[in-house]
Amino acid sequence: MTLTALRCLQIMKKWRGNLNSYPSDSLINNIDQVIEELSKYGCDNILIDFLLQFQLDKIINSYKNIKSRNPKYIKESQAKILPYIEEIFKSLQYSDADIIATDLVNHLIKNPILYPHTELVTIICPLYPSFKKIYKQAYDELCNYLIKSIENDLKQRQRKRDDWSIDATLNCRSIYCNEVDRFLKSNNVTQTWSITKDNRNHIMEYFTEMELPVNLEVLRKGSPHKLIITKTQKLHTDAKENFKKLQACYDNLNEIMATKVNESMDSL
Ligand SMILES: [Zn+2]
Repeated sequence: MTLTALRCLQIMKKWRGNLNSYPSDSLINNIDQVIEELSKYGCDNILIDFLLQFQLDKIINSYKNIKSRNPKYIKESQAKILPYIEEIFKSLQYSDADIIATDLVNHLIKNPILYPHTELVTIICPLYPSFKKIYKQAYDELCNYLIKSIENDLKQRQRKRDDWSIDATLNCRSIYCNEVDRFLKSNNVTQTWSITKDNRNHIMEYFTEMELPVNLEVLRKGSPHKLIITKTQKLHTDAKENFKKLQACYDNLNEIMATKVNESMDSL
């Protein structure tokens, strides 16, 4: 560790001290490329570790304990955060701070809503050969967690042809939405409902944000008109697709677990 590096670290810590909050929109973009270049130019590891820990702390603070039931919001959050997670994994090959890998893995395991198992497998499998031995404990913990979780998912996800239940809950506790929840969880395929326009619109609004394999139709006959809710075949095609994806991830994961972490990377 050089004196210059220490002085730089002091300056960066002072800079961090000025940021009194950790808003996610101030995350460093393409941090993996920044760190790769810094490393290429011989930047001291303490500075690389500082940047990585700073980025990870921001992610952890911005995305802890997400418990939303709104699938659209969760999907958007996932799309936003997953590329940053991938960049941190990529950057770790230039760092020697095993605490960062441990913090990262703990965060991923604690927030399963945000980090779908299949997405994590897709990120870590191609990077596995570059994983460093000093991170072995953290990586093993993550891989074991994923294998166990996916085994569980596989047990639950094989949907039978006559199973029409949908495990979803509308984000509203009104009597109408409760009734819809009961229908969703039941094995019934269709429900016809004489219901006023306001209540029809209310239900339809909550459905829109759920993006479920369900068709909504208004039958303009009688008074009030009827709302017809029908579960679609997409429920089964999606389940089949998901199952295939899970199985592929499971096989991939077992394959990389069988190969050894590249020890030569530690000499970098
Ligand atoms: Zn409602």
